[in-house]
Amino acid sequence: MPLKALKCPVCGERVAFKVTNEVVKNAVQFPVPFKVIHGDHSFTVHLDSGLLISRVSASTNDPPPVESP
Ligand SMILES: [Zn+2]
Repeated sequence: MPLKALKCPVCGERVAFKVTNEVVKNAVQFPVPFKVIHGDHSFTVHLDSGLLISRVSASTNDPPPVESP
């Protein structure tokens, strides 16, 4: 299971995470988006067929924190 390390696009800290070969094995098109959870936030890395990171983007899919009135 390859271990990846990069700078988190959200908080700027270095983050390490594992990706499984299944992520790209079952993919029908590349790059494959892979969500990485880092503490209370997350970001998405896009992996090519060789499990190399082709792009990193801060995730915008997470809803903003809800504050009670
Ligand atoms: Zn982070």
